[in-house]
Amino acid sequence: MLVYGSCHCGAVRIEVPNAPDWIGSCNCSLCTKLGWLVAYYPDDGSVRVSGETMPYIWGDRMIAIRHCPTCGCGTHWDSTGESYGRVGVNARLLDGFAVAEGRFSIGGSELEVRYVDNAGD
Ligand SMILES: [Zn+2]
Repeated sequence: MLVYGSCHCGAVRIEVPNAPDWIGSCNCSLCTKLGWLVAYYPDDGSVRVSGETMPYIWGDRMIAIRHCPTCGCGTHWDSTGESYGRVGVNARLLDGFAVAEGRFSIGGSELEVRYVDNAGD
């Protein structure tokens, strides 16, 4: 079932094929500062993003971390060149996402948080 999302101001709209089974909390230097929680999807066109986004590219320059230039919300990341086979969406932007007492859910279904070790970046 499609799940929709948007940034805070609504300029960027996101459509993903399904709610994530789990979300990733990544310890890289950027996610640590931004507080992203990432839902991963195959890079097969099933994630649709509309509206202008600004890329931030650093380090090995393999992925572009994108945000809304108006409200600043991190929206998604994708490959800058050859596909990794997956893309990442900021799960916090998906409709129905909620956080309560440190537990995360979408539409009332609690999400498993997996800790993703990318601190080597
Ligand atoms: Zn925005």
